[in-house]
Amino acid sequence: MARRILCAGPTAIAPAVLDRMTQASTNPDLDPAYLSFHQQVIKKYQRLLNTEATTFMMLGEAMVALEGAVVSLVEPGDRVLVLSNGVYGQGFADYVRFVGGEPVVFSQDHRHGLDLDRLAAFLAEDHDFALATMVHCETPTGVTNDLAGLAGLLNRYGILSIVDSVSGIGGEKVDFDAFGLDCILCGSQKVLSAPTGLALVTLSKRAEAKIADRQKEVPSFYLNFKNYYAYDDPAFAFPYTMSEHLTAALDEALDRLLAQDYLSLHARYARLTRETVRASGLSLYALDHFASTVTAVCLPEGLSASQLLDAMRAKDILISKGVGPMADRLFRIGHMGNNISEDNFRALFAALDQSFTDLGYPLDQSLEETFTAFLADDRF
Ligand SMILES: *Cc1c(COP(=O)(O)O)cnc(C)c1O
Repeated sequence: MARRILCAGPTAIAPAVLDRMTQASTNPDLDPAYLSFHQQVIKKYQRLLNTEATTFMMLGEAMVALEGAVVSLVEPGDRVLVLSNGVYGQGFADYVRFVGGEPVVFSQDHRHGLDLDRLAAFLAEDHDFALATMVHCETPTGVTNDLAGLAGLLNRYGILSIVDSVSGIGGEKVDFDAFGLDCILCGSQKVLSAPTGLALVTLSKRAEAKIADRQKEVPSFYLNFKNYYAYDDPAFAFPYTMSEHLTAALDEALDRLLAQDYLSLHARYARLTRETVRASGLSLYALDHFASTVTAVCLPEGLSASQLLDAMRAKDILISKGVGPMADRLFRIGHMGNNISEDNFRALFAALDQSFTDLGYPLDQSLEETFTAFLADDRF
C-alpha cells in the first residue's frame, strides 16, 4: 500500500511532477533557453497572486525568503510592527532584532484571526512603523488572517507589509496589487506540491524603493533580494546556480494546480474536513478565520498527538501534530494541493476512526461515514 501524505506540508508530490525532474537536461548557467523557461515559470506562479510585480525564486526552504525579506527590507533602527497570532508570526520578531530593527509585537490569542478593529485602534495611537510583518495562514493553528483588511489598515499610514504566505498561496485568495501588499513569500513544498527547495518572493515597487534607498548596506550577500532582480545583463539573472530540476518540477506542479478551480477546491475540502470533524464530537482549535489549507483538531484529554500519529503511520498515513506549545495537544490535516483527493480523504477518515477506537477514544460518529454522506450533500 502506498503511503498517503495528508500533512500540513511538505505535501504529496504527484508522480508527474517527479517525472518532470528527470527530463531536465541543460545547464542553467549557460543555456539562454533556461532563462526564458525560468521566466515562464515565474509568470505562471504570478497568476496565483494576480500580479506582474517583480517575482523571483531563491534556492532553499521558505525560511530563506522569510529571513531574506527582513535582512533586505529592515534597516537598523527601523521600527517594525510584528503582527502575531501564532508561532510563525512571533518568529519575525527575532529576525527583526538580528538585523538591528526594533520589533513591536502586536500579539493576539492563537485561536482567532487578527482583529482588525483592535489593530485599527492600536495604529491610531502608534503608527510610526517602517514595516509590518504578518503571516497569511498560521499553519500550526489553521487560522488564515484577512490580508486585504490588514494591508488596508497599514496602507493608511504608509507601513510596508512583509507577508509569510508559505501555506496560503495557491489555496487562499491573494490579490497582491489590489490588496496593496509589498512583499509576499512562499515555498514550493506546501500548497504548490512541488519538491522542497524553492523559496518564492514577490515585491511591490515600494518595497524595491525601500531596498534601493537603504542608508546601510544589506548585511548579507546570499540573502540580499537585490541580487535576484536588480541586474542589467540577463546573463546575471541568477546570482547563483539555479536548480533546473526544481524549476521543472514547479512548472509541472503549477500546471496541475492552475488546471483546477483551486480556490474552490481548497475551500470545499476545508469545509468538508471541519464539518466531518465536528460531527464526530472532536473540536477544532481555530474559532474563526478558518484556513482553506489546514485544519487543526483538539485531541481528547489523555490522548497525545504522538500516539495518534504513530497509530496513523502504522496505517501508512502521515498527518501532522501541533507546533510549539500545542505540539502534543493537536493533530492537523493538510487539505493542501496534491494531498486533496476523495480517495485520500476517505482513507484518512477511515484510519482516524480506527485509530481513535484502538487507542481507547472511540468517536461519537464515524468520520468516514460522515465524510461520505457530505460528499453527496448539496451543501458541499
Ligand atoms: C512551512 C512554513 C514555513 C517554513 O517553511 P520551510 O520551507 O520549512 O522553511 C514558514 N511559514 C509558514 C506559515 C509555514 O507553513
